[in-house]
Amino acid sequence: MDKTDLSLYEFFQMFPDEESARKYFEKKRWNGKIVCPHCSSDNIHECKDHSPMPYRCRKCRKFFSVRFGTILEESKLPLHKWLFCMYLMRANRKGISSVQVGKILGITQKTAWFLCQRIREVWMKTTKNKLDGIVEIDETYVGGLEKNKKKSQQRGWGRGPSGKLIVVGGRSREGQVISCVVQDNKKETLHGFINENIEKGSTVMTDTWKSYNGLTNFTHHKINHSVREFVRGIVHTNGIESFWAILKRGYYGIYHYMSEKHLNRYVHEYSFRYNTSKGNVLDFLGKTIEMMDGKRLMYCDLVK
Ligand SMILES: [Zn+2]
Repeated sequence: MDKTDLSLYEFFQMFPDEESARKYFEKKRWNGKIVCPHCSSDNIHECKDHSPMPYRCRKCRKFFSVRFGTILEESKLPLHKWLFCMYLMRANRKGISSVQVGKILGITQKTAWFLCQRIREVWMKTTKNKLDGIVEIDETYVGGLEKNKKKSQQRGWGRGPSGKLIVVGGRSREGQVISCVVQDNKKETLHGFINENIEKGSTVMTDTWKSYNGLTNFTHHKINHSVREFVRGIVHTNGIESFWAILKRGYYGIYHYMSEKHLNRYVHEYSFRYNTSKGNVLDFLGKTIEMMDGKRLMYCDLVK
């Protein structure tokens, strides 16, 4: 585990059991004012016998728990394990394998894998603020070599070792990253990413890849890596490249293999951890719980 601002010992002092974890989830979701997830009424009765639904709405008479309407709903795992898993995912900057999570939590690898995927799902598709100021844009290529693939799985891209998956990302000089998997590295795709995620009028730094040519709405500076130019004054893409380095250490060191389908989820894991690295562990846990509302992920959708 990497150095963290909340030690494992402190984590368990703070969250010794299921009850303390449940209270934390409730606090982060409802902020002290419990509302019915069915009808939004705040006329709530707390049941004496808590399990499995601790609350009943006096208006619509339905029972509910903090899990309802979130990614937790279908899960039978204790909230304490959910919280501990999030802690582990934060504490290991390069990622943590489902084998390891399974061993630590005392659950099977398959259960651990599904748990981690659902937590990653929470970090996906968040309504982010666009990046602004000076923003470095770059793509990176991960995955197996083309020659090792079946003919039907081969893809023919020109740039970078072909057959790899493409991830595009932007990093503001304040240290915020937006990143996702894309289908190709053509002009339309990369311009689409930039227009969607970067505030108009920002200054964009890229390398000299031709697909970046013709950007309107931005001040565009290029750095020419092919002639070994890496920094020219404020023009460089070292920030986004440091993010790629972390992503790739995880890919090759921890996860070994990510399918195209799942890679996007891992990319969001790395982005979320990167973007919240200045805050402390509790900020990370709290933010994750706040984002759970309305998120769902079924196992059958995941393995389809
Ligand atoms: Zn209700």
